[in-house]
Amino acid sequence: MGNLTTQYERFADLVKEMADVGHAQALLSWDQEVYMPPQGAASRARAMGTLAGIQHDRQTAPELVDLVTALGVADLQGDMAVNLREVQRGQKRALSLPKALVVELTQTESLSHEAWVEARKNDDFATFQPWLEKIVELKRQVAEAVGYTGSIYNALLDEYEPHACVEEVGPVLADLRQRLVPLVAGIVDSGRGADKLFDQPFDIGPQETFGRRVMADMGFDLEAGRLDVAVHPFCSGTSPKDVRLTTRYSANLMQTSLFGIIHETGHGLYEQGLPDAEGMPVGSAISLGIHESQSRMWENMVGRSHEFWQHYLPVLADHFPQQLAGVHVDRIYAAVNQVESSLIRVEADEVTYNLHILLRFELEKAMIEGDLQVKDLPGAWNERMESYVGIRPESDADGVLQDIHWPVGLIGYFATYTLGNLYAAQLYRKASVDLGDLSGQIASGDLSGLLGWLRTNVHTVGQRRTAAELVQDITGEPLNVDYLMQYLEGKFKPLYGLD
Ligand code: ZN
Repeated sequence: MGNLTTQYERFADLVKEMADVGHAQALLSWDQEVYMPPQGAASRARAMGTLAGIQHDRQTAPELVDLVTALGVADLQGDMAVNLREVQRGQKRALSLPKALVVELTQTESLSHEAWVEARKNDDFATFQPWLEKIVELKRQVAEAVGYTGSIYNALLDEYEPHACVEEVGPVLADLRQRLVPLVAGIVDSGRGADKLFDQPFDIGPQETFGRRVMADMGFDLEAGRLDVAVHPFCSGTSPKDVRLTTRYSANLMQTSLFGIIHETGHGLYEQGLPDAEGMPVGSAISLGIHESQSRMWENMVGRSHEFWQHYLPVLADHFPQQLAGVHVDRIYAAVNQVESSLIRVEADEVTYNLHILLRFELEKAMIEGDLQVKDLPGAWNERMESYVGIRPESDADGVLQDIHWPVGLIGYFATYTLGNLYAAQLYRKASVDLGDLSGQIASGDLSGLLGWLRTNVHTVGQRRTAAELVQDITGEPLNVDYLMQYLEGKFKPLYGLD
């Protein structure tokens, strides 16, 4: 097999070719959401299936397996070690899953998705229940096949938040829940009414102009990325030099459109700042949680801050004089930070949002660990909604049937949203300390200090550190709920006149 250098070079060539297949997959799925006409769906699905098969064959090809084995005993250092570690992780997972199980899971997810669409439309959990039972059973089989230490749930969590485990993350999330519930109750009991500022139409043209202005100010490079319109906002891409963002505009949902752009731009800045490693794993994002920390930091800690609106209210008012002339910055700040107990996760504000997530995390963990039967899920859901957020769904359509995640087999995913908020708060605090006058910079419209800090401390690290290591390296301590709670209490208690 030749000497170590030759072996590593061959290994790298094969991995980069896999990245090129991934490049094609990413672009096809982006196109599917942005441009593809409806009748293109069938042939696109076949093409995607073929590419997934090619990817699997390459990942598990004997030559690559042998190279990984040979390099595994070679004590690689630095980026080479990171690349080997990540390829090994993916290969081990792919090799341990029997093909029959993969096929059955893919088919089940597709059928279960259809069943869920109907069930949600008809508010009929009973027709969806057997599908979810099957998904849970197959996911348990996946976990047994790939292996785990501690909870069986770790095998699923690891797919989205690599190297994390519930034994560490679970207590942090439980702590957060215990502290959030009274804060939400206090806000709801304060009785402050909703502001109607955004309950009026805003023309789409100027919305887009303003959104693009904020995006440029944040530092998103349009020579290395695009913003298009799609039904679901998302961020994808093929390399740091080609990052694709989408958003949607609606005259009656000005806030959703604007904060959607800021959120996705946060993701996009991370992608553009990753090391250009020609498709090698070291240049990839660390985890979904770290990715979400970047979007949530820009969306909430920056975009929903008083200092942000000190600078941007006059700019926005120039675009919308009819709606915003004479509006005080305190009013728009309050309007973009309204807290409401709502049943629907995607409409939730930044305080209650985490409770929606924690409920899902707890329930899916219990289902996978065998502590909760699927037939008991709606009841467990409704009870928790009532005790966490203070309202009980009238229907399963507004309750357990609202999310697409479980129907399509995304179990182990939800926790990454709240981990993202926790990482964001802890990192933002450190950025504020390091930068000295971050609030002042933002108030004067200068967002470059924060981006520079993120580039240095987070983006350029790529996958050289795990999420837990990154947080420890940057802030000098493990993930700590105090930062998110201090941030939320510091912002929302004054807004709602608490204490
Ligand atoms: Zn996101």
